Amino acid sequence: MNHIALYIHFPYCLYKCHYCDFNSYAVEGVEGVESNYTDALLAELETTLRHLPRFVIPSIFLGGGTPSLFSPHEIGRLLNQVAKNTSISSDCEVTIEVNPKTLTAEKVDGYLKEGIRRFSVGVQSFENRYLIPLGRLHTGEEAMATLRLLRKKGVENLSFDLMFGFPGQTAQEVMSDLQKALSIEPQHLSFYNLTLEEGTLLKDQWRKGKIQLPENEVQAEMYEQGIRFLEDAGYCSYEISNFARSGYESRHNLAYWRYQDYLGLGAGAVSFLRKELIGDGLRFIEEEEIYGYRWTNPLTPKEYIAFVKESLERQGPPLPNPLPPGERGPGKPPLPWRERVGVRGKNEIIDIPTAKGEFFMMGLRLKEGISISEFERRFGEGSFLSYQEIIPPLQAKGWLIREEDHLLLTREGRFFANDVVSCFLL
Ligand code: SF4
Repeated sequence: MNHIALYIHFPYCLYKCHYCDFNSYAVEGVEGVESNYTDALLAELETTLRHLPRFVIPSIFLGGGTPSLFSPHEIGRLLNQVAKNTSISSDCEVTIEVNPKTLTAEKVDGYLKEGIRRFSVGVQSFENRYLIPLGRLHTGEEAMATLRLLRKKGVENLSFDLMFGFPGQTAQEVMSDLQKALSIEPQHLSFYNLTLEEGTLLKDQWRKGKIQLPENEVQAEMYEQGIRFLEDAGYCSYEISNFARSGYESRHNLAYWRYQDYLGLGAGAVSFLRKELIGDGLRFIEEEEIYGYRWTNPLTPKEYIAFVKESLERQGPPLPNPLPPGERGPGKPPLPWRERVGVRGKNEIIDIPTAKGEFFMMGLRLKEGISISEFERRFGEGSFLSYQEIIPPLQAKGWLIREEDHLLLTREGRFFANDVVSCFLL
């Protein structure tokens, strides 16, 4: 049976962090909205399932925003319905993203009782002098206390995020953060540099000359030292920014990087399914050369709830408006996603050339790279031969290597991942 990973988005946060361009909205609390929002998620699940053949869910990811603002009761209501109406694999990875400011011992007990098995904590740094400018509400001590609490409660699969490259940060301070991180012995760690996204407070401050990030070479050195440290400690850098003990790679994120199918529920959530996986009601256009469909729900909670209500009333699939044909296809520069999606959400048609480019774009992030036989299985025997001219120059630069069935970035190539990927998108 086909596998489809399930993502559920919780768009509320207690405060908008200064670097964040995720689809999240600051609220004082969710007491007044969580039950309505959960109802909308359940309605979307129900109407979407009507248009999908049976499938197995290998992973469920409750992401945000801050899903840990929601009570175990609401999370349980949601997971119970998913379990009742779909087939969940017996070893399904069920993850919740957690903000240290929102977790209590009772909540951990409740989430565990509802079947959450993996906790992913937004730590970012243990140093308050970096957390404050980021707009994080918690201190380094509170982040550490949250991690210890999860361990004390018996959470075996623990992951957290650490950033580096803050204004004024030194490589030594990055290593100190990593040392503190490993004192918890997490199963998984995301380690990535701070990027200044459009529309964020930090980007604005940078534009006004109020802050400066460390030079690129300094950041590259921080990353390099970090990788070495984590690998020496027994973590595999299985993806550009992700490290795991053997067997604890994020199954859910691997589905994205291996270009597999996923269903997204909630405000701004994205779904991506091959055409053979979806029923007629969800196929918003029929064309020969279509690989699959991707759709993005309306962004704001209010628009999302109205949209689910409307699709219930018309008894149709919860699909936003199709993307105008001119906006799709390879070679079209992607607009910033907020402009593309808008309040109504968007549908995209993924044609074969786009799918091939995306397969490389996602897969080359992985240490294992892309599987050539898998590429040919999806796109036809001999289809990989069309890259014969692109690959040798990248190999000559020392950025790309072929190891049996896999094509992968070298260590050096990781720093030029965008340049390499752009060659496959042309
Ligand atoms: S907690 Fe996460 S999602 Fe919420 S504003 Fe901060 S970075 Fe964004």
